[in-house]
Amino acid sequence: MADRAPRLGDVIDDYCPRCRLLLNHDVTSLYGGDVAKVTCRTCHNAHDYRHAQVPPKRKSSKKEDKQSLLQQVLATMPKPPEPPAPPPPETRPQKRDLWAEVERIKAQRKGPA
Ligand SMILES: [Zn+2]
Repeated sequence: MADRAPRLGDVIDDYCPRCRLLLNHDVTSLYGGDVAKVTCRTCHNAHDYRHAQVPPKRKSSKKEDKQSLLQQVLATMPKPPEPPAPPPPETRPQKRDLWAEVERIKAQRKGPA
């Protein structure tokens, strides 16, 4: 396609990182005969010329990175402590029969008749 050197103001296809699409761009900067910067004709966002390369979608790899990172963290973490043993079945203190106690004391006080 490069039948002639790009010039300022040329319209070329490039990937716009803002639009996230391959769109027409104006050449706004040249460096050594190559396009250095372009301006999106759709959103007027100026950015480095990406040679019409659509970046690979990162979402999936990012997720993997995250997962592996999590696993790394988990691997370095100490093992969680064992859950505490269940408490022994509660032995309820037997409710004292207060009235029985009172009767017993009364009987003691009275003594044998
Ligand atoms: Zn754009």
